[in-house]
Amino acid sequence: MTTSDTLLRLSNVSVRYGAVTALDDVSIDVARGETVTILGANGAGKTTIMRAITGHAPLAHGEIHLDGQRLDGMEAHRIARAGVGIVPEGRKVYGRLTVRENLLMGSRLARSKQTEPERLAEVLDRFPALHSRLDESGSLLSGGQQQMVALGRALMTAPKVLLMDEPSLGLAPMLIDEVFRVIADLRELGVTILLVEQNAVMALDIADRAYVLQAGRVVASGSAEELRHASSVADAYLGAL
Ligand code: ATP
Repeated sequence: MTTSDTLLRLSNVSVRYGAVTALDDVSIDVARGETVTILGANGAGKTTIMRAITGHAPLAHGEIHLDGQRLDGMEAHRIARAGVGIVPEGRKVYGRLTVRENLLMGSRLARSKQTEPERLAEVLDRFPALHSRLDESGSLLSGGQQQMVALGRALMTAPKVLLMDEPSLGLAPMLIDEVFRVIADLRELGVTILLVEQNAVMALDIADRAYVLQAGRVVASGSAEELRHASSVADAYLGAL
């Protein structure tokens, strides 16, 4: 898609780790308000896409733009300030900090006109279970609650686009349902989301469009509805086994 409403665009992006080509000529568009998912097996390059966008993996080739602003080549903290929020793989909740401190960490990057207390109140409205735990250590939380903190921390930055790296990884099935419900709610609110997932069935359930990545290349793309029935999705997984 090349409409003017494209918010995030990766154009012909390649990333190498030494001799390993992790991404090979990858082009991905995310429109404003859209939820796009990137599917692929272990090692397909999903995390590298996130690292490329957030400025943690230099591009060997290609360009990345957010809302018309070129991101590649910028330092990671500037990219965050430009409006890229991330919920990292493994959640990365800081156990030595309280839940409140974890949430407020995102706040200094905020581009929002709202005050910090206003944004915190909004995040707590979304995740009421965190309210009573604000002054507890992050390490005492369950995996599901940690995922909420990681999501809340990203939302505190009022990002233009929210990147999520395998939010279901390592969670019990019940909690996975809960996390996907939250993502679906955010989508309803108009948050622009780029979601990287191994759980293709659930990701396709909440996404508008999807890209299938195999060995660093996009091998299929289309509406979530189309890809739900596409053999390329199954092939991308089976091919990696
Ligand atoms: P996973 O689901 O396991 O996180 P992924 O789809 O996110 O997989 P990446 O982590 O992006 O895949 O890795 C893509 C490729 O790059 C893999 O072949 C991986 O072995 C390789 N790779 C990743 N990080 C490095 C690194 N720091 N040095 C060398 N090779 C790397």
